[in-house]
Amino acid sequence: MPSQGDTPTFPADGAHGGHAPARLARFLDNTGGLGIVLNLYASMYPGGLHRPGAEITDRRSPTVTRRITILGSTGSIGQSTVQVVDSLGSDYRVVGLSGNRRWSELLDQCRLLRPAAAAVADDASAAAMRPQLNGQMDLLTGPEGLVEIASRPESDFVVAAIVGAAGLRPTLAAVEAGKDVGLANKEALVIAGSLLMPLAKRKNVRILPIDSEHSAVFQAMASGRSGEIHKIYLTASGGPFRTWSADRIAQATPEDALRHPTWDMGPKITIDSATMMNKALEIIEACWLFDLPPDAIEVLIHPESVIHSMVEFCDGSVIAQLGTPDMKTPIQYALTYPHRATGCAERLDFHALRKLHFEPPDMDRFPALRLGYEVARAKGTAGAVLNAANEQAVAAFLEGHIPFGRIVELTERVLDDHVVDTNPTLETLLTADAWARQEVNRCLNV
Ligand code: NAD
Ligand code: MG
Repeated sequence: MPSQGDTPTFPADGAHGGHAPARLARFLDNTGGLGIVLNLYASMYPGGLHRPGAEITDRRSPTVTRRITILGSTGSIGQSTVQVVDSLGSDYRVVGLSGNRRWSELLDQCRLLRPAAAAVADDASAAAMRPQLNGQMDLLTGPEGLVEIASRPESDFVVAAIVGAAGLRPTLAAVEAGKDVGLANKEALVIAGSLLMPLAKRKNVRILPIDSEHSAVFQAMASGRSGEIHKIYLTASGGPFRTWSADRIAQATPEDALRHPTWDMGPKITIDSATMMNKALEIIEACWLFDLPPDAIEVLIHPESVIHSMVEFCDGSVIAQLGTPDMKTPIQYALTYPHRATGCAERLDFHALRKLHFEPPDMDRFPALRLGYEVARAKGTAGAVLNAANEQAVAAFLEGHIPFGRIVELTERVLDDHVVDTNPTLETLLTADAWARQEVNRCLNV
């Protein structure tokens, strides 16, 4: 994979929406007024600053209202988002939903939440669903319908929770339309971080991470400035094959690979966790989100999935975010940011927990990690090729066409044959994506 060397730099504070101290500093730069600072604090901490012993009964912010479109609402993240929105009360409203083939689940969500519009990517599912809606809301269809629902004026916040490359165009459309985005669809950043991040900056919108590790990093970063970061520890459970030999991993069945030890997720990300391609995608995601060089990111195996990630600052202080392995917590933080509200996920019990474990990753048994670093360095079209080849190989594995061991092997082979375009457009990224899928199919004689 020929690529162009780059010297990434740390961002200016709050370059992509920023964190509270950075935004406060910028605010002071602009105004210099104490009254305004007090107002800002009042809006950041509407319940008042917490004093030990003082009881705070309702931490819900009266100042945040969100009209939310959930892309991929029938999936694992989508359904958790619906639960979070429900628990946050009437300041948070769902105004748009989207699904693909599970139209009857989408219909149930529409009946419950009464959004202004819904979108169904799959045409046959849309045709089946339409008569059931009795014209009570707009039903948009196909890939264009997803783009439209992501950019409609009813919403001010879009949760991007479609799995895979299918989420890219709607996520770009949401940013283009000036919506803040809660990003679960890491593949969009892996493919097109070079377009998405500058676009968000131009449009002055926030891309708030929902991926638990990135949410943890984002929260930990509020303890310092981005220029003070020494490195990030991206934690990983190690997946179901953490203790398996390479030979045994190579022969794992879909049933083995779908049995994740700590997280309950959709099938594609569960397989990615078993190959550790998920962590590879997350390395690339972190580089784009936080404008960090790959060398500043260290993967750390932590089987309990309690520490969701950590930031080590230049003075040696390490700030971690902990919680039970439940995506409702990072989803809620994205929705309520910069505030916090009473959570609906189970809380940590340190007495039951007692011990946390850490180990270095094994790059030989999990070669996907190496690919993650290589692609994060190469940038350009490399992410699109890595992602598309992996998506295609994962689908082939789940359909029983290839053994587990070939997923990463095929992905690496396609990546090796790709000449990276270091300055891609959306069109070249989509071309690279299509080429990588064809290459996987060619290798499989499909
Ligand atoms: P899922 O398979 O459970 O749900 C995927 C959603 O995307 C569904 O609503 C489905 O209808 C929709 N979808 C699938 N293909 C589509 C297409 N071609 N066009 C339009 N819509 C389509 O997946 P998930 O586990 O919820 O993951 C969603 C995203 O969130 C992924 O990018 C994943 O990496 C990320 N993520 C998930 C978790 C988790 O715990 N599940 C954690 C972190 C990040
Ligand atoms: Mg994650």
